[in-house]
Amino acid sequence: MLVRCIECVARFRRDAIDFAELPPRCPHCTGILKSDTVSFGEPIPPDVLEGCFEEAERADCMIVAGTSATVYPAAQFPVSVHQRGGDLVEVNPYESEITQLCRHTLQGPAGEILPLLVERVRRRA
Ligand SMILES: [Zn+2]
Repeated sequence: MLVRCIECVARFRRDAIDFAELPPRCPHCTGILKSDTVSFGEPIPPDVLEGCFEEAERADCMIVAGTSATVYPAAQFPVSVHQRGGDLVEVNPYESEITQLCRHTLQGPAGEILPLLVERVRRRA
């Protein structure tokens, strides 16, 4: 598990950080460290966002799981794949903004559907 500096975006192994003083501070810039996850309302870290744009531009198929697909910039990724002729597979309990663009829709919670999908793919491999 990693922690990330909210100032310089440096990442560190959680077990390499001293939590004796709170909040934990970045060894590089003294910025506050938090878990390397994206909380609701928090922007996607710039390096991760750049990687997402690159992968979305190369993808010919994308699984879109457990999202309303309405929050930009992430909502643009499946639209971009679809516009270039790629296929979208949606895993969601309800219709979303991109359901009409999807080649396949697997209706249900991602936590239940994705393990079943992985199992089916493994059996075919
Ligand atoms: Zn830092």
